[in-house]
Amino acid sequence: MTIQILPPQLANQIAAGEVVERPASVIKELVENSLDAGATRVDIEIEKGGSKLIKIHDNGSGISKEDLGLALSRHATSKLNSLDDLDAILSFGFRGEALASISSVSRLTLTSRTADQVEAWQAYAEGSDMAVKVIPAAHPVGSTVEAVDLFFNTPARRRFLKSDKTEFTHIDEWLKRIALVRSDIHFTLKHNGKVVRNYRATSTQDQYLQRLAQISGKKFAEQAIEINCQHDDLKLTGYIQSPFFEAPASDTQYFYVNGRLVRDRLVNHAVRQAFAEHVTGEQASYVLMLELDPHQVDVNVHPAKHEVRFHQSRYVHDYIFQALQSALQQVGRLAIDSDNT
Ligand code: ADP
Ligand code: MG
Repeated sequence: MTIQILPPQLANQIAAGEVVERPASVIKELVENSLDAGATRVDIEIEKGGSKLIKIHDNGSGISKEDLGLALSRHATSKLNSLDDLDAILSFGFRGEALASISSVSRLTLTSRTADQVEAWQAYAEGSDMAVKVIPAAHPVGSTVEAVDLFFNTPARRRFLKSDKTEFTHIDEWLKRIALVRSDIHFTLKHNGKVVRNYRATSTQDQYLQRLAQISGKKFAEQAIEINCQHDDLKLTGYIQSPFFEAPASDTQYFYVNGRLVRDRLVNHAVRQAFAEHVTGEQASYVLMLELDPHQVDVNVHPAKHEVRFHQSRYVHDYIFQALQSALQQVGRLAIDSDNT
C-alpha cells in the first residue's frame, strides 16, 4: 500500500460533502460571508432552484487582489487566528472551507473590489490542483460570487437534488430565518429572472413588524407580544405569540443565539415550558434573539452550526423561561383587568 496526499480538488470535494448539501447550503455560506464582510445589501439570484445558477452580490468590504486567490483556498480565513479566537467567535464563518468546497463542486467565480482599489478582479480555480487564476473585471465595491452547475462533477450528489421547487423552498426558508434576525440588511431574491422576495432594511419597530408580517404572516405580527428583557449579561428580545391568539400549528419558531439560528433542546424546553400553561393544543409561535457573552457559548459543535453549548446551561434555561413566563403573565393580567372594568 502506498500513502498519497489527496489532490486539492478531491480533498475539497470530500470536505464539500459536509457543508455543501444542496443549493440552500451554498447560499447560506455565501450570504454569511457577505454579512461577515459588513454588507448592508445582499442580492441573491438563482436559476432552476439554484442548480443552474447561484449568484450572490453584496456591497461589503470586498477582497483585495492579493487575497482573492487565498479566499478560494481551503483553511484560508480572515476571521480566525488562533484557537483562542474560537472561544469568542462572532462571525459566521471561521473554518475557511466554504469557498474552496463550493468551488470544487461547481463552476465558481469570485469577483470583487475593495474601496481602495480602482479596479475589480475576478478569481476562479482550475483543474485538480485548483490553481487560482486572477483576471481583471468590472465590479463596484463589494463582491459577487457566481456558482454555476452545482455538482456538475459529482454526479452522485447531483442526483440527490430534489425538484427546482423543493430546492427553492429550502432557499426561501433559509432566507426567512436570516431576514428575521438581520433586519438591518436589505435582501432580495430573484428566481428564474423574477424578483420573488424583497426584504427592505428596517430601522424602526414598525418596519420590523412589517418584515415580520411579510415572513410570518400579518396575523402573527399584529398580535405578537414584544419581548425586551435584560439581566446581567443576558439579553432576550423578539416577539412571541399572545396567549389569546389561537393560531394553527406554527412554523414560526425561530430562536437565535448571538445572531445564529439554533435548534437546541435546552432552549426548546425553556420556551415550551413557559408557554405550557398559556397556549393549549398547538405549539406557539416565536421569534427570539438571545445575546450573551460569546465566551459563554460554544458554536463550534457542528459544521452546520445549529447546535450550541452553553457553559451555564441551567442559568440560561431558567432565564429564558422566566423572561417569557413573566411576559405572558403580564399580558394575562392586563386582559383580566380590562375585563373587570
Ligand atoms: P470563512 O468564511 O470560514 O472564513 P470562506 O471560504 O467562506 O471561509 O471564505 C474565505 C475568506 O474569503 C473569508 O475569510 C473572507 O476573508 C473572504 N470572503 C469570502 N466571501 C467574501 C465576501 N462576500 N466579501 C468579502 N470577503 C469575503
Ligand atoms: Mg464563510
